[in-house]
Amino acid sequence: MNGLERQLGERFGERLCVNWPLAPFTSFRIGGPADLLLTVESEEELCFAKAAANRNAVPVFSLGAGTNLVVSDRGIRGLVIRLGDGFRRIEIDGCNVTAGAAADFGVLVETVVERALAGLEFGEGIPGSVGGGLVMNAGAFGGEISPVVTRVHGVTLEGERRALAPEEVGFAYRRTHLPAGFAITRVDLELKPGCRESLRARVLEVRAKRALRQPRGVPNAGSIFKNPPGKFAGRLLEDAGLKGTRAGNAAFSERHANFIVNLGGATAEDVRALMETARERVRLMSGVTLEPEVRLVGEW
Ligand SMILES: Cc1cc2nc3c(=O)[nH]c(=O)nc-3n(C[C@H](O)[C@H](O)[C@H](O)COP(=O)(O)OP(=O)(O)OC[C@H]3O[C@@H](n4cnc5c(N)ncnc54)[C@H](O)[C@@H]3O)c2cc1C
Repeated sequence: MNGLERQLGERFGERLCVNWPLAPFTSFRIGGPADLLLTVESEEELCFAKAAANRNAVPVFSLGAGTNLVVSDRGIRGLVIRLGDGFRRIEIDGCNVTAGAAADFGVLVETVVERALAGLEFGEGIPGSVGGGLVMNAGAFGGEISPVVTRVHGVTLEGERRALAPEEVGFAYRRTHLPAGFAITRVDLELKPGCRESLRARVLEVRAKRALRQPRGVPNAGSIFKNPPGKFAGRLLEDAGLKGTRAGNAAFSERHANFIVNLGGATAEDVRALMETARERVRLMSGVTLEPEVRLVGEW
């Protein structure tokens, strides 16, 4: 670690943050420190940092907007890399769109709808970055990002640039099978020409559905568990009486049983304990073992 800290320090100076709290970088506002946290502004910087970490055998974690994460209270060992504003550009050429991995997913949806391009309306209200959305194969209301992806650009574990075809991404339900350590830098999409007014109407419809169902104004990380085949996790959790159940300062939302909210000062252990209670209770009640949708990351 010291070797990497020195090498990155020489290159990035005060931009390299040491023992840096991660809670402010997550929508849950939970999580301990990263040994090293670095925000890179170009592909060249990303290649440099990843190659250096690889040479020093230090693990690297790619942090997006932190909206699908439970970062452990002990934090993340090794190097955490965030993509800076240099990765936010959205370019449109006809139906082809290239979005930087740090671009806001909601901004991407809004931008393409205004250009009368169809295929991402489902994504209205999904927080996070384009890179995180790709890794999670983000989706809602029957849609997901994978069908419109034509190419994924990024940097390998060793610090080399590489572009992947959709088959190499391995899209599945709320996950992908990207090569280990692959950091996404930008994504190419192919959308369809649409009618701006109908696309706007669809977006408003999605927004209204979300406003009805989701907790607002309290830190959370979206759906905690994936929907099991043919079932809704929220329904199973509600039937098991979990709405409002609390562990420490974390609780299942009264509004939507598949959301855990941070009531203020919740720890990652509170969230994990609540998840374990819920899994056990749902398994006993309905025989279904729920699989987490949020990612528990760091040192537990
Ligand atoms: C209120 C709320 C509502 C939500 N609703 C939905 C919904 O309807 N549908 C849905 O699918 N999700 C939903 N989510 C979950 C979350 O918004 C998505 O999973 C989102 O796509 C995660 O993006 P992110 O940038 O925050 O990724 P992060 O949470 O930062 O990371 C998620 C994973 O992606 C990896 N990652 C991130 N960026 C990169 C990159 N550039 N290169 C390589 N790996 C990377 C991380 O290492 C991590 O493994 C919701 C969350 C909240 C808080």
